[in-house]
Amino acid sequence: MIAITGGASGIGLAAARAAVAKGWHVAVGDRDERALAAAETALGNKATYTGLDVTDEAAVDAWIDAATARGRLAGLVTSAGIGADVPALDTSVDLFRRVHAVNVLGTFLCARAAGRVMRDSGGGSIVTIASVSGVRGSKGRVAYGSSKAAVINMTQGLSTDLARFGIRANAVCPGPIETPMTAEIHDRATRESWLSHVPMRRYGTPDEMATLIAFLLDETQSSYITGQAISADGGFAGAGLPNL
Ligand code: NAD
Repeated sequence: MIAITGGASGIGLAAARAAVAKGWHVAVGDRDERALAAAETALGNKATYTGLDVTDEAAVDAWIDAATARGRLAGLVTSAGIGADVPALDTSVDLFRRVHAVNVLGTFLCARAAGRVMRDSGGGSIVTIASVSGVRGSKGRVAYGSSKAAVINMTQGLSTDLARFGIRANAVCPGPIETPMTAEIHDRATRESWLSHVPMRRYGTPDEMATLIAFLLDETQSSYITGQAISADGGFAGAGLPNL
């Protein structure tokens, strides 16, 4: 069983598709009921679908318990997240709190619930979805970038605390990916700015993220990899001078 938050859309949905293709059953948790229904049409009975707010501690614990009741929890992917593209001096306390609640607290609650179950059942793999915005600071991302930097550090801490239980934890740091999130918050200027700083000069696809996520979930393929933050970003985080 693989539990995937935000699994009804974008990167999480692609990860769910990849996990199903590898023969895992998937527990999709997402707060968007309409997207959940669409995911059910796409994935069918290879997955279960739960309306879930990852900031709700009791709901997260119940979701992980229900997933575990259907089969051993081998993996968790925390893809639920919200973006924000707002200049630093216009960032309200409310926006900052909302972004950190979902991206940081939500990731922690899910990792803690899954970690407790995995500890008692011989191990597993936790894959958090951070961002290149958590690796490098960028315009308009004081709330979002700091939340993703926290996810990266949290993942390293999880890997350290949980290794003794056979649990690995790694963060995937996507660059700009074509998903409903970027369709909503990336205007034309933002897109052009990203493309001028991404050496490969294109957005990535959710399936390109899903391949990496499935690799990190797979105990036989990535058995000695833990505590890593792996960028999949067309070269953005590694680039020195911007493209000329
Ligand atoms: P998306 O909007 O397509 O999917 C995110 C999903 O998370 C949605 O289905 C949404 O309903 C769900 N969600 C949001 N808040 C939730 C909550 N409180 N509880 C449960 N579910 C919740 O976005 P995406 O682009 O696929 O993003 C997935 C993850 O990847 C996010 O964490 C995002 O920050 C990260 N990311 C995305 C990009 C990108 O360019 N798209 C880049 C870097 C990182």
